[in-house]
Amino acid sequence: MATASRLPLRCWAEIDLAALERNLHLIRASLPPHMRYVAVVKADAYGHGLPQTAARLMHAGADLFGVANLAEAAAIRELSPDWPILLLSPLLPDEDRYVIDYDVAATVSSAEEVARLDTAGRAAGRAVTVHLKIDTGMGRLGVWHEEAPALYRKICDSKNLKLAGVFTHFSSPDDDAAFTAEQRRRFLAALNKCEGIDLAALFVHADNSAGLETIEVAGPFNAVRVGLLQFGILPHTGSLLSHVKAVPVFSFRTRVGLVKRLPAGTGVSYGRTHVLTRDTTVAILTAGYGDGLPRAASNRGYVLIRGQRCPVLGRVTMDQTIVDVTAVADVCAGDEVVLIGRQSDAEISLTEFSRWADTIPWETLCSVTKRVTRLYRTSLGL
Ligand SMILES: *Cc1c(COP(=O)(O)O)cnc(C)c1O
Repeated sequence: MATASRLPLRCWAEIDLAALERNLHLIRASLPPHMRYVAVVKADAYGHGLPQTAARLMHAGADLFGVANLAEAAAIRELSPDWPILLLSPLLPDEDRYVIDYDVAATVSSAEEVARLDTAGRAAGRAVTVHLKIDTGMGRLGVWHEEAPALYRKICDSKNLKLAGVFTHFSSPDDDAAFTAEQRRRFLAALNKCEGIDLAALFVHADNSAGLETIEVAGPFNAVRVGLLQFGILPHTGSLLSHVKAVPVFSFRTRVGLVKRLPAGTGVSYGRTHVLTRDTTVAILTAGYGDGLPRAASNRGYVLIRGQRCPVLGRVTMDQTIVDVTAVADVCAGDEVVLIGRQSDAEISLTEFSRWADTIPWETLCSVTKRVTRLYRTSLGL
């Protein structure tokens, strides 16, 4: 009897791990050699699959992993007992002891967190590693920049804490260079007031993917935190980072389940939101919003079949989507369909796909559902 794992796939993502590794090397090569590389792999490595992605990033020489929660940290610990990990989110009070168990650096933003982690470290008989986060205008995590020197002092006075880094996060690196520059100034001014701080001994980091466009390589910055760009996606169109030449790691594919001819005047899919103005050949695809093809792409998106763009007709449904293939010769049941990625000379980028749903590439990657099998491609093929 065939097992489920041997069934043909109806909707899948291909993850090109060789491209991921190349992207890391390209990003590194675009930076001064002293810049360390923090690989951000939160949210299942942006939907690419955390274990596979992290393993390849280790092979590529990532210096530190950035995660959003302890479960993600534990998944990395399964791969390596000692690869440095930074938790980018606040710890819940009942999570404190796990940063010790998993040997994860915690992000601290407040005197309460400093006191709590100092207590946890004392109880465990081991220093807790922390990165001090400074809020320079993002208005999310971090101690307000004017209060950072006082919190720095508290960390130094806490016997059971070991400071390993200082960082901030930009709110608008993709569209407000002046405010990003102001955030850098606030960060450096705060560090200047931290008495006796040895910045060369710490990870000093601010830039995410978009930040790399305006990176300051002179000052004390010595690490970058890269998420989206390592997956080969530019943070916005017209980005200066196109010179890095990172290529997409992720592609999203489905198949044609049925081809049929419908007469003019037929309303297509739920709600009859598209009424055919001519006799039309349609293909019914074996993917829908249950896979991560957003309903917002109804009457708006495109797919690639036999290297040609085919418009979505009517509403995307949970498991099926209807496209117009009148202009494409010889479409058959079983044909491969590209939702995101390349086919022959045609391409649908993650950025274009995201626009149909009025969202951003980050959210699209997080919206590809569990039903979608991830296939890992290496340089040796699938
Ligand atoms: C997610 C995240 C990043 C990575 O951002 P990208 O724009 O995907 O490169 C960097 N820093 C922090 C604090 C983050 O939460």
